[in-house]
Amino acid sequence: MAEKKDSATNDELILNILTKADVFTPEGGIKPSEYWAYRENVRIKYGLPECADKWDFPVSYIQKIEQLAKENKIEIRPKHEFQLFFEENKAGALTSKSVFRDNTIIAEQHQPDDWWALRARANQLSHEIVHALQNIMFPGMPDHIAEQEAYAYQQFNPGEIIYKSYSPEDIASWVNKTIPEWVATSLAVDNKLNQHDKIDE
Ligand SMILES: [Zn+2]
Repeated sequence: MAEKKDSATNDELILNILTKADVFTPEGGIKPSEYWAYRENVRIKYGLPECADKWDFPVSYIQKIEQLAKENKIEIRPKHEFQLFFEENKAGALTSKSVFRDNTIIAEQHQPDDWWALRARANQLSHEIVHALQNIMFPGMPDHIAEQEAYAYQQFNPGEIIYKSYSPEDIASWVNKTIPEWVATSLAVDNKLNQHDKIDE
């Protein structure tokens, strides 16, 4: 359960990878190394643990987030309680498998024997916990900023960066194209959900 690498070594490795990716930054775009600084700032601002190992060690990450949620009086409830909500909004482009509403994170149920469900839960929590803490620390934060922060923390983690290190060009495109697309899709979905919010019941 311990962190796999010494964090100083890890930081050096990440910066090394990102410096190579910076060269491929499109004109007017964000340098991956600058985006990393932004991401780390988000992580530290909310007191979030690193989520780099959420794929390989979902159980320990889930435990950390459940604890953090408890300390902040944030509820985490299983999706099946909200089956109707997810079904009704499926056609309305509800692509995300989790949601944060009314101080409650609704995410995949914890299934100790189901590796995929565990990973899905860990991944969903790594996004929704950001929204939950934003709601407490900065209520009324503009949606686009909220999504940018959540995706930066969730997606641009050392595990993924190291995984993609074989292609510095892909890392630059990930920062400047893929992640912004996730943010845009999420904002569109949120707008639809807000139009007919069913979770207040
Ligand atoms: Zn979000």
